[in-house]
Amino acid sequence: MNDTKTALVTGANKGIGFAIAQGLGAIGFTVAVGARDDARRQEAVERLHAAGVDAFGVALDVTSDDSVAAAAATTEQTAGRLDVLVNNAGISGRTDGGAQDPTTLDLDVVRTVLDTNVFGVVRVTNAMLPLLRRADSPRIVNVSSNMGSLTLQTGPIMAAYAPSKSMLNSVTAQYARRLADTNVIVNACCPGYVATDFTGFNAPRTPEQSAAIAIRLATLPDDGPRGGFFDDEGAVPW
Ligand code: NDP
Repeated sequence: MNDTKTALVTGANKGIGFAIAQGLGAIGFTVAVGARDDARRQEAVERLHAAGVDAFGVALDVTSDDSVAAAAATTEQTAGRLDVLVNNAGISGRTDGGAQDPTTLDLDVVRTVLDTNVFGVVRVTNAMLPLLRRADSPRIVNVSSNMGSLTLQTGPIMAAYAPSKSMLNSVTAQYARRLADTNVIVNACCPGYVATDFTGFNAPRTPEQSAAIAIRLATLPDDGPRGGFFDDEGAVPW
């Protein structure tokens, strides 16, 4: 088997996804840059090349069955297998006054958020699993948020976004159970509160700091934890 490992990161054109791609590239992965916009994807690939990372672009809109199927085909043709999948692409959904009030919630906002943050993860994971199963030590990392923690209940009231991450955590646990007797290790992570477009760049952590936990989970040893939810400090309460 070819020694070079390949990692696909969704939403890798900017923010936390780009930092995860760059970090995995720095430790020797070939990075498949999953991004939906051609120009933004190409620009990200060029920035990674300039940083010395072996990267290629994969057109990928996580809300589209056709796009995801084509992305799997591109990844197979280019790399032959997949060692790491990082499901990072995510959206907050429309807010009113900085929040999503459950008492006036527009269900179209909920549908849109779930389609990207949850259904998108299932769509991409299932399309990529055949390629992941060809790897010796496949890893799947789902980028979640402690806003989805029912124990912590952090941040503003976000009645579409926060439950989408609670469901993503639950979906992560279901995948880990289903894949328990395989070499595919699945976990979720919280990157912390990070300065990206998502937060209007008004947050204390850098994308590079936030990428560290995803990179750690992407490179777990074969006896590493499964079906957990982690940040830099360790396990995050569900
Ligand atoms: P950004 O808004 O900076 O980046 C989001 C990325 O997701 C972009 O590349 C975007 O692409 C992509 N994306 C969105 N929708 C789709 C789609 N349908 N198909 C493919 N790609 C898509 O956000 P962050 O980097 O901050 O967030 C990354 C992840 O981290 C998200 O899952 C978020 O929920 C999570 N997170 C972020 C926190 C923070 O403080 N920033 C805190 C906790 C969790 P495009 O450029 O085309 O829009």
